[in-house]
Amino acid sequence: MEKQTILTGIRPTGHLHLGHYFGAGKNWVKLQDQFETYIEIADVQALTDNFNNPDKVRRSVRDLVIDLLSIGIDPNKATMFIQSTIPEIAELTVFYSNLVTIARLERNPTVKTEIKQKKELFGESGEGITYGFLGYPVSQAADITAFKGNLVPVGEDQLPLLEQCREIVRKFNHIYGETLIEPEAYLSDIPRIKGLDGNEKMGKSLGNAIFLADEPDVVTKKIMGAVTDPNKIKIDDKANPDICMVYYYHKLIGNKNLKTVCSECQAGKRGCVACKKELVTEMLEFLRPIAEKRKYYEANPDEVEKILKEGSKKAKKVAEETAKEVKTSMKINYFD
Ligand code: ATP
Ligand code: MG
Repeated sequence: MEKQTILTGIRPTGHLHLGHYFGAGKNWVKLQDQFETYIEIADVQALTDNFNNPDKVRRSVRDLVIDLLSIGIDPNKATMFIQSTIPEIAELTVFYSNLVTIARLERNPTVKTEIKQKKELFGESGEGITYGFLGYPVSQAADITAFKGNLVPVGEDQLPLLEQCREIVRKFNHIYGETLIEPEAYLSDIPRIKGLDGNEKMGKSLGNAIFLADEPDVVTKKIMGAVTDPNKIKIDDKANPDICMVYYYHKLIGNKNLKTVCSECQAGKRGCVACKKELVTEMLEFLRPIAEKRKYYEANPDEVEKILKEGSKKAKKVAEETAKEVKTSMKINYFD
């Protein structure tokens, strides 16, 4: 059987955080051994809502690749590439845009949530929702299908986008003949990582994330401010670890002492400050090997540049092939 292909992506608008890592990135590292793996740095998609901040996107491309290398993505196994270097993806986006109604995009739960968040952050009178932003699920369908991705390892928030992609694929194949592959989602065992503030999702723009590149003093400050059981006031009050974000992160990063943390918390034998301090120590230990690898790549920018350049070149060849097949199916292959 032919090796299956994984296509996944990440928007360069900042560093990787724990949500990215435990919700999706850990699977990218795991699966790169068994699958043909493509990891897209989705700069075009990042620009849909950061079009007025090109410096941030440009800088984040390098930051992210270094983050990916630091968590264990091996450039000999996985192909990392920059979306904008592959115009075929933009081409496919245009073709697919005929197959999606505006009403369907507006109904997409992920898009809906993101529009709501934007309104909360910037007010009703903010920038407004652009044509490009509304259409980003279509460009995501182009990303996935350009590489004939069978499996897409993502966090739970991405499921509606994947469903949208599957609809586009089915419609395309129905109209133009079997050409594209319908992908499936691959979820992690914790598909949605919560934020430090107790929000259901840790998110870059939500200000509730621990970034893998955070310095120890920043990590400490963030953990000391994390939300705990609001009913615990005094040090010896009994508390409920299930509603405490500190306990949640102890569990997430695999504290070996977890049972004790839980029972002491429930019995009122553990103060929140001590519990947070223990988490700081554990978290810094967890982040240490990642930080060490980052130091290496930061000191070797030419190596990072080469990885991106070669990855983008390899990915372009694959996308060119798909674009050719798509155009043939659509009967717009004039000069073949
Ligand atoms: P953020 O969502 O923090 O604003 P982003 O939207 O720019 O960042 P994406 O590029 O959409 O990040 O996410 C990359 C991957 O990480 C996706 O597969 C997404 O589902 C996953 N992911 C992001 N945040 C979380 C989370 N809190 N829990 C689980 N998975 C997550
Ligand atoms: Mg997102």
